[in-house]
Amino acid sequence: MIKHIPYLFLFISFIGVAQQGIVLDELSDAYADASLPLLKALLSIPNDAFYPEDIEENVLWCEREFSSRGFATQRISTSHAPLLLAEREHPKAKKTVLIYLQLDGQPVDSTRWFQENPYQPVIKKKNSNDEWVAVSWDSEEPKEDDWRIFARSASDAKGPVAMFLAALDAAASKDIVPNYNIKAIMDFEEELGSPRLPKAVTRNAELLKADMLIIFDGPRHISNKPTLTFGARGIATITLTTYGPVVPQHSGHFGNYAPNPALRLSKLLASMKDDDGRVVIPGFYDGVEIDKATERILKNVPDNEGEIKKRLQIVSSDKVGSYYQEAIQYPSLNIRGMQSGWIDEKVRTIIPGWARAELDVRLILESNPERLIQLVKKHIASQGYYVTDTVPTAEERLAHHKIATFTSEISYQSFRTDFDSEVGKWLTSALKNAFGENPIRIRMSGGSIPIAPFVTTLGIPAVTVPTVNRDNNQHSPNENLRIGNYREGVKTMIAILMEKL
Ligand SMILES: [Zn+2]
Repeated sequence: MIKHIPYLFLFISFIGVAQQGIVLDELSDAYADASLPLLKALLSIPNDAFYPEDIEENVLWCEREFSSRGFATQRISTSHAPLLLAEREHPKAKKTVLIYLQLDGQPVDSTRWFQENPYQPVIKKKNSNDEWVAVSWDSEEPKEDDWRIFARSASDAKGPVAMFLAALDAAASKDIVPNYNIKAIMDFEEELGSPRLPKAVTRNAELLKADMLIIFDGPRHISNKPTLTFGARGIATITLTTYGPVVPQHSGHFGNYAPNPALRLSKLLASMKDDDGRVVIPGFYDGVEIDKATERILKNVPDNEGEIKKRLQIVSSDKVGSYYQEAIQYPSLNIRGMQSGWIDEKVRTIIPGWARAELDVRLILESNPERLIQLVKKHIASQGYYVTDTVPTAEERLAHHKIATFTSEISYQSFRTDFDSEVGKWLTSALKNAFGENPIRIRMSGGSIPIAPFVTTLGIPAVTVPTVNRDNNQHSPNENLRIGNYREGVKTMIAILMEKL
């Protein structure tokens, strides 16, 4: 049963745009700051999805907070952590907006954080030496926009969850009722790659039925201006292992004799790309076409490539695209980690027994993910490798000169929505009303979010509304959220609640 909210009707279109701006600023300032304890409480719940008992605490917290704001909540069970659906219907609403929120976080290595505990949020400001120093949560000093809240998931993506709750409270305080129904779907396994999400969406398609999907996640454009992102690449992963002697051997006794797996792996990986970082496996980039209209969209993004290179401390970029936005329209083939033998203080004079590379492939709509994986696999075979998906047996080792173990997983596909879609125009208008200028509109982000299952199964368009600062260290130690971004995020979400659909 969905509760109807007994709010008075006060549709914002009656107030006028100028007044709307004032209402918005007042509301967002007040409610962003008033909701900081709520954000702190949420960030204080450990949320590594590897620990189900911790995730349960997060689910309970969300159930409580959404219920107290008039939402009917229900768990969608999976074989692991549940998804949580919170619904609220509004009088006279004709449409339903599905909102995707993510609650889990990447694992933490507390020793690398400059605070006691990544789950004990700390507010910090920069001192005159440009160092971050802690400020008490209860300090009387007004919190400046450039101060930051340091905690796991501050930006990715509990910050946006707190922003949304604060925006709901702000709207309720002025009897602002959205003219659409809301279904908030909460994912507690996003950082695991949401492995159970596609099936859950398929099984609950009727329950999740909506007209469009918006995603409160991800960082704004590097300029930190209001941004909308209309798509994201998907992701697949590959684990590739090559072999030498069955166990590591003395490099003096067997150097020049036993083949070295690290060298084999290096040559194999090197054979996949040219010196400009382009994949040379035929067909890898097939299907991508950047026509004039697309090029205009891509070039409209105000990237400063000099700045990007300076930030990354690189002189030149790979040549997959001729500029940053173009580069991320193509699938990527990336080495995300490598291992063989030992290094640093553990180094030893051996020929290792094996070498392993972990790869990721960022996916695009124009390419079938399975086809891309098979292209890489076939390429390995073409380099003279016997390719298997298990650790080779003694018989296999004795039968083949070169052996590679290749396993892969397709997490989810890419998605992309037109700028001119209903959801695109609606959100563009909401952000324009909030900030007085058109948002930066990004065709497709390079990173991945598990949205394709919603888009393809539910048949609805999706747009991401990013709010957090880009330099937030997400997935790394010292993740943080800029307080100014938190405030503008609350403002963004109030504007969306006010915007008529
Ligand atoms: Zn993440």
